[in-house]
Amino acid sequence: MEVATLSKKSHVKMLKCRECGKEYPPIKIHACEECFGPLEVVYNIDLLNINKHTIEGRSKTLWRYRELLPLEDAAKIIDLGAGFTPLHECKRLAEALGLRRLYIKNDTVNPTGSFKDRPATVAISKSIEFGFRAAGCASTGNLAAATAAHAAKAGLPCYVFIPSNIEKSKILQAAAYGAKIIAVKGTYDDANRLAAQASYEYDLAIVNINVRPYYVEGSKTIVFEICEQLGWRAPENLIIPVGSGALLCAVWRGLKQFNELELIDELKTKIIGAQPEGCSPIVRAYKSNLGDVSPIEKPDTVAKSLAIGDPGDGIYALRSIKESGGLAECATDEEIIEGVNLLAKTEGIFAEPAGGITIAVLKKLIDSGDISRDEEVVCCVTGSGFKSLEIFSSRQLNIVEVEPTLNSFERTMGLEVLIEHG
Ligand SMILES: *Cc1c(COP(=O)(O)O)cnc(C)c1O
Ligand SMILES: [Zn+2]
Repeated sequence: MEVATLSKKSHVKMLKCRECGKEYPPIKIHACEECFGPLEVVYNIDLLNINKHTIEGRSKTLWRYRELLPLEDAAKIIDLGAGFTPLHECKRLAEALGLRRLYIKNDTVNPTGSFKDRPATVAISKSIEFGFRAAGCASTGNLAAATAAHAAKAGLPCYVFIPSNIEKSKILQAAAYGAKIIAVKGTYDDANRLAAQASYEYDLAIVNINVRPYYVEGSKTIVFEICEQLGWRAPENLIIPVGSGALLCAVWRGLKQFNELELIDELKTKIIGAQPEGCSPIVRAYKSNLGDVSPIEKPDTVAKSLAIGDPGDGIYALRSIKESGGLAECATDEEIIEGVNLLAKTEGIFAEPAGGITIAVLKKLIDSGDISRDEEVVCCVTGSGFKSLEIFSSRQLNIVEVEPTLNSFERTMGLEVLIEHG
């Protein structure tokens, strides 16, 4: 084991095993040596000198919460401007759904178009601090671009392991940042296994495997921002898309940290996990009241970012949902695309299916009475529609073709046309 070079003043206290509680210094290690359990960063919360006022005065990226992020040396930060994305109050969508107070956290506007820029900026910065000479990830699509972009800015070679059937636009985007793309003939779980083997053989920072304890810390900043943007309070209901479950767990942990630091007054948020019906191991476990999550062999869904059959943080996500008094629900591909469309048409926010699923699940929960009209809801819309344009056909989108003449235009549009001059 390496010797920790942790200064006395560090805000990071240690890594701790989530299973057996064994403690480690914050070094290059990602699983417990006793029980192989996942490790989690613990902070010196009592020593932190942080308050609303200092945070509000800082730059508008997720690094404004740096005391709750696991980097020691600020000079190592690789920052493309991830985070501090808008929280929109959505009156038209709320009305369409029959709700009083609805907010969208619009993470589609991150530098590479998804919330994955949050964990990627933290993981690549930490990889530089650790002295890794190359980076990479296993990805369902979005992490590929986020890791590749941050690695490009850091000047690190980048190796991206993806299942070969993901959206072409996501592969092209990651490749454009200069990453080597390894398209694995198999599922995400196969790509993940191969990436893990590579990380044991080479000096390679696979951000969501051997840098994972640090990587996951970036994701919780989405809820720090939501609290700050609501005027330093926690939302009533928070709907989160779930693949591996890492984001959901990070959000719950983040809320507890904000509560401990008294940056919010009370913690009463119900965490709602959203999964596609074609890959919903966590929803199934929740609904059949099981303590464990059984993997799904062959995920089949339009929400490819969420197609993780064997979710690494599955049980922990389930626990977080229950601890918060929340729930888990799924939506069909059709409902997901309807959600994408409704969000775009009412609020001007264009999401990929993995983001639109939060609207689909919200609609279901209102219909079933699990969420009532007077409750406040925040939906995390985690990825941009530009990532998966191929889900639409031009017929669905109501596109008409005309000759370049006013005559043809009027003939084609018929009675639909327009608002004439008064
Ligand atoms: C990765 C991803 C998720 C799910 O994140 P997990 O941490 O794997 O649960 C949700 N939405 C989008 C757009 C993603 O890319
Ligand atoms: Zn352990």
